[in-house]
Amino acid sequence: HEPAGPKPIRKLTKDVINQIAAAEIIHRPSNAIKELLENSLDAGSSSIKITLKDGGLKSIQITDNGHGINKADLPLLCERYATSKIAQFEDLQSLHTYGFRGEALASISYVSHVEVVTKTKNDGCGWKAIYQDGQLIPSKPGAPAEPKPTAANDGTVITAEDLFYNMPLRKRAFKSPSDEYTRVLDVITKYAVHNPHVAWICKKAGTSLPDVSTPVNSNIRANIANLYTPSLANELLEIPLTTLKPEDKLSAKCSGWVSNANSNWARKGGWLLFINNRLVESTKIKKAIDALYTAYLPKGASPWVYLSLEIDPAKIDVNVHPTKSEVHFLNEDEMIDGIIGVVQAALAGANTSRSFSVQT
Ligand code: ADP
Ligand code: MG
Repeated sequence: HEPAGPKPIRKLTKDVINQIAAAEIIHRPSNAIKELLENSLDAGSSSIKITLKDGGLKSIQITDNGHGINKADLPLLCERYATSKIAQFEDLQSLHTYGFRGEALASISYVSHVEVVTKTKNDGCGWKAIYQDGQLIPSKPGAPAEPKPTAANDGTVITAEDLFYNMPLRKRAFKSPSDEYTRVLDVITKYAVHNPHVAWICKKAGTSLPDVSTPVNSNIRANIANLYTPSLANELLEIPLTTLKPEDKLSAKCSGWVSNANSNWARKGGWLLFINNRLVESTKIKKAIDALYTAYLPKGASPWVYLSLEIDPAKIDVNVHPTKSEVHFLNEDEMIDGIIGVVQAALAGANTSRSFSVQT
């Protein structure tokens, strides 16, 4: 049989391209939350409050007290590749913000209905803007597509409603709002441990009792006690800020809190890894740490580990994946060696002052 002739090649429209990208960046409510709270942190907020309906599927609202957005920037706010954080590729080498791709709000506006209320400290009033598919749209049919003055506090309130309203397949894949809520809480809890200077609140809409609530200017250990359990916080060993292998000039530092050798928490374990303040996954680092702990913990138990690495931005590639959950860095093996050394030193230090033996 003869194969059919080729079909013509066509360019996808901007909207199709953006919608495909959006679905790749925002898999589920917890991805949207991570992007939004990183924006709030980038804006210098000391208070971040998140309210969700149906685990974020029905609505996500995030209120911060950061520097706000200038009215003049609102038309570009949700446009893809529009950012205030970098201007050229080289800027990635000295990046000190979470954001840089200018894709988060664009993506969210392609998969939900977005409303933004914002006020800078120099504004006499706040501004409200509504977005769809990257564009500012009128608040009602016939009205001009422009921000409207409104009463507001300094900072920004972003509301995203009806996640995946235009992607029926994706929408149907979400069976359990409570499962989504759990994932959202997990992300917020981790950022709250890492950013104890910020007051965090997360709750379900319509409830008065928040599920996450931390005071401003708290500290890491107090937030671990608050968000996990006081007994976990008591068991943890502190890893003071340590330069990794200074002789190798890795320009990297590590700090954190980790399980001690006879931790009761060990069964469940926990894993919080921040590299340059970004919550990331690293199978390699996790494997190495888990291997180290097999010498200290009973079989089947996992450690609870919170590590924060600071690596010279010039030595790390954050631009590996649109969700930025994966990063690549130079001297990975030396780096992991260094991290293991630091955790081992913390465990060994604890051992000398305690009366239990280490299985090897
Ligand atoms: P990126 O963070 O990569 O720049 P985003 O789409 O997340 O891209 O945000 C676009 C721009 O909108 C940011 O560069 C920033 O200027 C502004 N912005 C977004 N959220 C906030 C916020 N909560 N407070 C102040 N400015 C914000
Ligand atoms: Mg961002």
